[in-house]
Amino acid sequence: MKVTIAEKCGFCKGVNVAIELARKTLSKGKKVYSLGPIIHNADVVTELLKAGLVTVSSVDEVASGTVLIRSHGATLEQFRQIEEKGLEIVDATCVLVKRVQKLCHTLSAEGYKIVIIGDETHPEVKAIVGFGEDVVVIGSKKDLCRLGEHGKLGVISQTTQSPGHFAEMVGEIIKRGFSELKVVNTLCREAIRRQDSAVKLCKEVDIMFVLGGLHSANTRKLAELCKKHNNQTFHLQNWHELDKTVLRGRSCAGVTAGASTPEWVINDFVEKLRAY
Ligand code: SF4
Repeated sequence: MKVTIAEKCGFCKGVNVAIELARKTLSKGKKVYSLGPIIHNADVVTELLKAGLVTVSSVDEVASGTVLIRSHGATLEQFRQIEEKGLEIVDATCVLVKRVQKLCHTLSAEGYKIVIIGDETHPEVKAIVGFGEDVVVIGSKKDLCRLGEHGKLGVISQTTQSPGHFAEMVGEIIKRGFSELKVVNTLCREAIRRQDSAVKLCKEVDIMFVLGGLHSANTRKLAELCKKHNNQTFHLQNWHELDKTVLRGRSCAGVTAGASTPEWVINDFVEKLRAY
């Protein structure tokens, strides 16, 4: 099997920084709690668990020690709770996510109703929402009714949305005749580069594999985009999940991976696929 790896794939800067910060803090012998899984990858979470990183879903579960804020960030309420309890904070919020949080706060202070294009259930979006006063989240066209009819809107986006979807939603909002629209591009370039190279590759191969956590938003977005251009696209976490019957009659495969997929998972998959 001829296997090609997408030009850009795997760990992004934000995830790398979070993992390095976790390792550094654990190496000091501290008890560290991650507010939610540090990344959407079971193998990495298990590796860090062995080193002492405990994943919790709420600050209530932490009595003492250090709380690690993952790259998605945390809500203002969670920061307040951590401070109130006198816990130490190691903040690994990605700088790009921090920028969106600040924009949400600034635009809100300037009197804009904030519109976030993104998935309202995603932790990054949940964390951004609290930075503004009047905030709505638009996931798709069916949510546009949440905008209301009047006022000035400040439009931002979850970092891992695709440019196409962001542009489509902004286009729909413009049609609604608001008196003022301020659109700030808050998409992550790393995520866009991964999307572009995945789409380019999936058009050239018989079968496409997208590796990464099933709950990872950026991996799911990669899979969704590839499926649009190649219906033989499969989203898997690793080699063990591959149903080998899908390889029958295929001679060239493409592989890409989300921003939270470690290099060794990609290499293992590619080596085994080449040898199959
Ligand atoms: S995908 Fe982009 S925004 Fe998200 S953590 Fe990585 S670098 Fe930061």
